[in-house]
Parts: sequence; structure tokens; C-alpha cells
Amino acid sequence: MLRRLPEAVVNRIAAGEVVERPAAALKELVENAIDAGAGRIDCALRAGGAAWISVDDDGAGIPRDDLALALERHATSKLAGDDLVDIRTLGFRGEALPSIGSVSRLTIVSRAEGAEGAWRIAVDNGELGALEPAARARGTRVEAAGLFRAVPARLKFLKSARAEYLAAADMLKRLAMARPSVAFSLEHDGRRAWASPAAPDPLARLADVLGAEFADNSVAVALEAEGIRLSGHAGLPTWHRGTAQAQYLFVNGRPVRDRLLQGAVRAGYEELVPRGRFPVLALFLDLPPDRVDVNVHPAKTEIRFRDGGRVRSLIVSALRRALAEEGHRAAAPAGFHRGGVGAAAAPLMGRFRPGGTAAPPLELAERAAVWQAPLDPALAPSAPPPAPESPETVDLPLGAARAQLHDTYIVAQTGDGVVLVDQHAAHERLVLERMRRALADGRPPRQALLLPEVVELDEAGAERLAAKAEELGELGLVLERFGPEAVLVRETPAALGEADVKGLVRDLADDLAEHGLALALKERLEDVAATMACHGSVRAGRRLGAQEMDALLREMEATPRSGQCNHGRPTYVELKLADIERLFGRR
Ligand code: ADP
Ligand code: MG
Repeated sequence: MLRRLPEAVVNRIAAGEVVERPAAALKELVENAIDAGAGRIDCALRAGGAAWISVDDDGAGIPRDDLALALERHATSKLAGDDLVDIRTLGFRGEALPSIGSVSRLTIVSRAEGAEGAWRIAVDNGELGALEPAARARGTRVEAAGLFRAVPARLKFLKSARAEYLAAADMLKRLAMARPSVAFSLEHDGRRAWASPAAPDPLARLADVLGAEFADNSVAVALEAEGIRLSGHAGLPTWHRGTAQAQYLFVNGRPVRDRLLQGAVRAGYEELVPRGRFPVLALFLDLPPDRVDVNVHPAKTEIRFRDGGRVRSLIVSALRRALAEEGHRAAAPAGFHRGGVGAAAAPLMGRFRPGGTAAPPLELAERAAVWQAPLDPALAPSAPPPAPESPETVDLPLGAARAQLHDTYIVAQTGDGVVLVDQHAAHERLVLERMRRALADGRPPRQALLLPEVVELDEAGAERLAAKAEELGELGLVLERFGPEAVLVRETPAALGEADVKGLVRDLADDLAEHGLALALKERLEDVAATMACHGSVRAGRRLGAQEMDALLREMEATPRSGQCNHGRPTYVELKLADIERLFGRR
């Protein structure tokens, strides 16, 4: 027999998707408070939220006549028109309240803006109660008791109260990060668990959520292009974690988990963070609502971009730029403070920005020298001439080189501290950055093949490559169309050495088909540059003269990303005099 399901059953089915655990119910209620324009949102949980969830706000409130409707399925005040392209609120599906009401004892007490008094309505596992007068100030309080008690199948899947609480707290903090001007508080089992007052700026709120060290160990990210705005703070590459859990990504104020965005973050930190490690960051992407679809899943944490490629490249370049500008700073390696200093010590990290010293311009001849440099463990010929020891050297960010220890570490004196440089790690980064510059603004040297090589492809592949011949030529790969289904390769980038021309060209054709870009070639060149940098760099264990050491420090100051080696480890650490004094108990 075919029959329409009663509304209560429909709601319960929907509840499985919308509020599959207490954290999800809390999220929906807090989103409603935010959408209502609240300036203050107070939340309380009991037993991880399974026993009790309440959210109290000072927002616009719900008018008496709308209270019953708010509990009806698909009733929303948030969609002005009937299309789903212009979504500016966190909610829009009109599902949360009826869903939660179908699997708990839900009570709403609300006083609307300008109303004489407040009203209360309750729904007990789908059974709607009567409207009653109540008392409260403007705003809304929603309480959900005994979540899933009437749905044993769902109750079975809840984790421990502790685990559910942690998930709910994480959810609340994510929402709070995107709304610095709203004050939040969270109580668990009667105790204050977390609170954050209205913050004067986004960074203050981030510090409240991620800890004060985040402010010291991150750089601001800001970029706007083609109607897309990216802002936020990116952790220094040396400050990384074992999971992507601490990567907070927001699209139009909505916390999201999105592969495209995560991939872009990975690419932005490429070579700066060791494999399998994840930087900490909070990035806010804002774009016109019609360029992103948030209506992919009832929980609204999945999204689709209309133009993913553009979003990705914006994020990658914004991160690279921000990290390069602050590239000298290295976070204090974990554990460095151990052994007596304790928490009193300030983070041991550089805080200067490049720009105080001009980057030594790379002459073309030097560039060529870099590319063809034999892999000889000497400082590359393009190192700037050593600065004579002068009193001012001490005032430069990395100071004046004073000694070399264990033929591996350079000790330098700065205006107010001591800098310890890992000479190999530092030099490796400098060599890589030189090669990159040669790649970016020069034409990498290329070598003619003794015999031009014919590479057979399908017709589409040959056509795509021929269409990009000019761009490829700039990267050092000179080729031309050779009949309908082949290309003829005449020259290859010198840095690739004895390249597997066929393999490279076929990879390129695939790349062009998939991304419209010659990614493979750039990536291979970067790979080669990184390998050459590693092998061509001054080894640990080689003695350096005073001038060589100073030259290394000066080039680090002028080079982007020089705070980390190519494997993401710090290249130097700084100990302020104040830290040393603390070590000796003088402060
Ligand atoms: P949605 O948020 O998708 O509209 P909900 O079921 O979450 O759906 O809420 C239904 C309606 O109830 C909202 O559209 C809004 O008008 C009203 N509402 C819910 N919570 C609040 C609140 N805290 N303050 C003011 N209005 C609210
Ligand atoms: Mg809602």
C-alpha cells in the first residue's frame, strides 16, 4: 500500500541528516541566533548535549504569530525570492527547528523586536503544544531536552558525552571565528567552558579560539580579485600540526570543509611544510552568493564553487605572497623552551620583515651560473659581496656573524639577542629561491636536442600542445606540430638534464587537457630546482669564514621564505637577551 508519510515521520527522517548529533543541533540553533542579528549568544549543554542544549540570544526574536509556523517544515523567513542563488543567511532550508522538535522536547521562548511581551511554544517529539505568554527581554531562547531519546537507533550512535561535548564546542568555536563582533559563551554541565567577548577585530577572536600564540605565529592574508575577497591569518610554516583539524575555512561566513580549499592551502604551503604536516590557519573567503552553491547537503558544510579554478589560484597566490613577505620568521620549535625557561619565555622567533635590506639583484650571467652551477659544496657565485663588519650589522635582523659552532651553526649577535642559524638549511632555501627567480622572471636556459624527437600523441593532444607552444618555449621546451598526431621537440629545459622527452610531453598534454595549464613542466622544474638546491648547498660540516657567514645572513634577510628550509624546518632560531636573562634567573 502506498501512503504519504505523516509529517512527524518526515521530520524524523530529515532530522537524521540535519541534526545527526548534538553538535549539529547546536550549530543550527546558533546559526539561527546569528541570522537574527544577535550581539550575544549564550549556549549550554548537558551530557555533551544529549541531555540538554539551550541557546539564548538577544536577536530580533520571533513574532507571536510566527512561533508555530517556525516549527513547521520548510517554513523560513530567510528566502526572499524563490530561487536559491542569493543566499545571505546561514539558514534557508526551514528544516532545523521542525527536525530538532521531532527528536527532542523543544521549547522556544521569544520576544520579538517591539513586541509587548514574550511567548512560549513547545513541541514534544513532534507533538505541538499550545502557545502561552511568557516573560523575557528581546530575543530568543531555544531549549532541546532529551535529544534522540525517542529514537533509540540514533541514540546508539552517539559517542561518549565528552566526545559529543568536544565536537559541539569545536562547532561553536568555528561559528564564533567568523563572527568576531558577537559575544559567545558556552556552559557544560553547569560550568563555564568557554567564553569570548565581542572582539574588536577578527584576529582578537582568532586568538581567543586558537590561543594567544596564534597571533604571534601567523601572518595576515588579504587579497581581493574579480569579486572574490580572501582575508584571515595563516600560521607560520614552522608552526604545524599532525592533522588538518586546525585549518579553519569559511565561505561567506559559513564554516566549511572542502577539498578544493584544502588542496589550495596545501599548494600555498608547498615545500614550506613537511609532508604529512598541516599548518594552522583561518581563512575567510567572501564571494557573491550566486558564485557558490551552499545547498549541496542539509548540514550546509559542503559547497560547490561556480569557478573553482579561480578560487584555488587566488588562495594559492595569496598564501604564497603572505608567507613570502614574512618568510624570515620562524616559529619557535616545540620544546625549545624546555629545560628551565618554562612558559615565561617569549616565543623564540624572528619578528622582522624583509624590506629593510634590498634584495641583491640577480644579474643574468649569475642566473645562468646558478642554473649551470656544478653541484659543488661552495657558496654559489651569486652570493652578494660580504659586508664589512660595521656597527650597523648588529642592527640588521639577523645580526653580525660572530662564530661558527660544530662547522654547522652560525652564531650571530643582534641588537637585543642571539641568532643561531643552521647553515645548510638556510643555504638550501637561498639556492632554491634563486633558481625560482630565474624560473619566474628569466627564461630558464634550454638545450638543443642533438636529434629532434618526434612524440606521437592523439590529435587533440598534439593540437593543445601546439597551441601552447609559445608559453612552453618560455619554460624552455621548444616544440612544434608534426603532422596530425605528433609534435617535434627541438629543445628542452637545461635544468631537466637528460629528460625523458616523451614522458614529459605526454604528461603535458594530459595536463593541458585537464587544467588547461602546463603544470607538469613547472612542477618538474621546481622539483629539479629543489633537488639541485639540496645537493648544491653548503653542507653542514663545512667551515665558513666570517665574511661568508655574514653574506649568508644578509642574503637570508633579502630572500622570501628564508625562515624555513625546503623541507619546512626552521633555518634559524632567535634567543632574545630577555630570554637569556630569564634562563639565568636574572629576571
Ligand atoms: P531556517 O533557519 O532555515 O529558516 P529554521 O528551522 O532553523 O529554518 O528556523 C525557522 C525560522 O524560525 C527561521 O526562518 C526564523 O524566522 C525563525 N527563527 C529560528 N530561530 C530564531 C532565532 N533565534 N531568532 C529569531 N528567529 C528565529
Ligand atoms: Mg536555521
